[in-house]
Amino acid sequence: MPGKDMDTDAGRPEPFQFTQPPMSGRKEMMAMTNPLFKRLVHFLHRKHGPGLDLDDHEIGFLRLIEGKHANDQAPLSWWCAFNNVDGDKIIKKLRGRGYITLSDYRYNVGKSTVPVLKSVLKAHHFHTKGKKADLVERVLANISGCDCSRHFTQSYYVYTQKALDALREANIRAEEEYNIRIDLIRRGDYAKLKAKLYPNRSEHWGTEDTFFDTLDFIMRHGFEGFGLSENTRQDISAFMALRAIDYSSRDCSTYKNDIFRYLTSAGIDYRTLRVHDSLLSYAAKNEIEDHDEIYGIYCQFIIDRARSTAELNEYRRLGVKKIKVDTVACQECGLSKHGKTYPINKAPILPSCWNCRCIYTC
Ligand SMILES: [Zn+2]
Repeated sequence: MPGKDMDTDAGRPEPFQFTQPPMSGRKEMMAMTNPLFKRLVHFLHRKHGPGLDLDDHEIGFLRLIEGKHANDQAPLSWWCAFNNVDGDKIIKKLRGRGYITLSDYRYNVGKSTVPVLKSVLKAHHFHTKGKKADLVERVLANISGCDCSRHFTQSYYVYTQKALDALREANIRAEEEYNIRIDLIRRGDYAKLKAKLYPNRSEHWGTEDTFFDTLDFIMRHGFEGFGLSENTRQDISAFMALRAIDYSSRDCSTYKNDIFRYLTSAGIDYRTLRVHDSLLSYAAKNEIEDHDEIYGIYCQFIIDRARSTAELNEYRRLGVKKIKVDTVACQECGLSKHGKTYPINKAPILPSCWNCRCIYTC
């Protein structure tokens, strides 16, 4: 808003409205016992599953290596550089211990490109019409394995049964660990969670205490105004809170599914919840009809607000007195051109609207 002070609530969307009565205590109980049951199943799996002789990096590498060119010098080099590990060494270990092997000619034919498939078929006087799957089938049905090996020289890393078992085991453990982390958040034991996630105190989160404030904000304000009981509100906010401070434990995109699954198990159909007008009209304006996407916007909004709040608190702790809001990248707030400087205690909490791209600068 040009020429006008933004107060902290400016553009703040109102909460969702809830069309269902708060649920009964029994349904809540069932929702709470579900994760416990899940954990018991995982525990039994783990007890009887195969042992893992790979560390987290090796498992991470194993997740990504299937189907990668074996003729390449350094597969997954970007990943190895990012994680500071030696890919060749890991490959050697994975092959030596029977987790991966080189693909056979059938696999190589299947991974080949259409032009190569056609040229091989042509050379052997077979017709070259059809989709890729047809061409692959024709090659495998008519050309000997020996000839195929000669034509299709690119080979790939493929999983053995041992790898499939190991990955299943690793996924069970990741799920288990995920549930432990969610429990820590629900119990408010953020310090233990932080020690788990960032054992090395010199890491980013070890020095910046935005960690606690981010969690705290989400657990206080997540799904506020939805009409849910306090227990349910906090339980589903925990998924969002973990997502806000940890990208590594599981696929990032699953936290919304966890929320939906939890609500479903508590007898609440999230699709029947009525979204507040300001988010609905924002969604309509942008032709967003999908409930998942609308919830995604809501969750991202709260996560961003939590991070902003934590960031402002951190600035306060550092003794910063004034803060500028840079609106340049924000279509909604960009009207005020150069942004505005605020005393730190009067700064608006960003984002200030559903599509806000504003950032704080010092
Ligand atoms: Zn903005």
